[in-house]
Amino acid sequence: MKMQNNPEGLGIYVHIPFCVRKCNYCDFLSFTAAKETKEAYFDALKREMDSYCGAGHQKPRTIYFGGGTPSSVEPEYIEDILCHMKKCFSIDIWKQLEVTLEVNPKTVDSKKWKQYKQMGINRISMGLQSTHEEELKLLGRIHDYDDFLESFYEAREAGFDNISVDVMAALPGQSLEKYKETLERVVLLQPEHISSYSLIVEEGTPFEKLYGEGAPKEHMLPDEELDRKMYQLTQKLLKDHGYHRYEISNYAKPGRESKHNSSYWERIPYIGLGLGASSFFDGKRYQNTSDMKQYLKHSQDRNIRVVEEEVIGRKEAMEEFMFLGLRKTKGVLKSDFKHFFGTEMENIYGTVLKSLSAQQVLIEEEDVVRLSEYGLDVSNMVLSHFLLEEER
Ligand code: SF4
Repeated sequence: MKMQNNPEGLGIYVHIPFCVRKCNYCDFLSFTAAKETKEAYFDALKREMDSYCGAGHQKPRTIYFGGGTPSSVEPEYIEDILCHMKKCFSIDIWKQLEVTLEVNPKTVDSKKWKQYKQMGINRISMGLQSTHEEELKLLGRIHDYDDFLESFYEAREAGFDNISVDVMAALPGQSLEKYKETLERVVLLQPEHISSYSLIVEEGTPFEKLYGEGAPKEHMLPDEELDRKMYQLTQKLLKDHGYHRYEISNYAKPGRESKHNSSYWERIPYIGLGLGASSFFDGKRYQNTSDMKQYLKHSQDRNIRVVEEEVIGRKEAMEEFMFLGLRKTKGVLKSDFKHFFGTEMENIYGTVLKSLSAQQVLIEEEDVVRLSEYGLDVSNMVLSHFLLEEER
């Protein structure tokens, strides 16, 4: 297929939808599957990749295996995909790419870590969520804290020097103290990156039946005030340990920000390969089918594989520029807005900027527009102000 050249490079996301067991809060496109399905899926992924071959000399800038649990499948499958990628895309200097693999404790061993290292994976994102056994059980995770520690040390031993750890806040019955303990134990390990997300009770999950609106245990969810205190604690504790917040929920040691995720917030084009994966390039967003049978049969045929295609018009592009860009603590540049849209940011958002600055949730410093610390804490409310009613 044809694709415009992207001088800044492309992000490549590969979705691996397989998990050992479904967690109680999870609404991601993930499930358990038989070996035959996994085999067929990896073949289908390669056929999808083939449909991009010859799309000009596209240079990937980042590769990200997400899921699901990519570490739950045999490493040979991941290696096979990476080899195929080298044939399909223009990759000159492999080592310069950020290649991330999402890993769950208890799905890896020292042999797997060595294989990952050898095949060129250089960044690990580990799902821990909590260091408390009762919280891990409540979430339905397959591992305990010791499993996580074992995996973490094994990864270090195998030579991984760029590890991110995911934790969760606002869990049912979670106190500020318990959450603090999780953070304190994680920073002792000195991972290069930490993500902390508040639990969202998603539709159709076992958690919805227990903690959803009107459900019997809804009262066990932390209230808004406690949720905010957890946010503020994360910021302070991680800052004291040398992590800077570079996005609403993401913290890193200097220079260890996730390049792949930063591309999303900077609207850099990316290709999403796999079941339900979304892509953004040539000014359009695309969504692959979530129907496994259909994907396995038609992954190479974009007319069947792609079930949604949205042209990002000028209005949507401006909204995205603000929504996504303001998630970053460094904010957005007015000069970039003018460069992309040919008009001053004030011409489109003048009233909103003034009003949000007066409420001290937004800061304007010459060319820079960014959210204040308080603005980051209440970002959902703030960002909603950047929706435009009509194209100007
Ligand atoms: S491991 Fe991740 S993707 Fe799999 S079920 Fe749990 S939360 Fe969902």
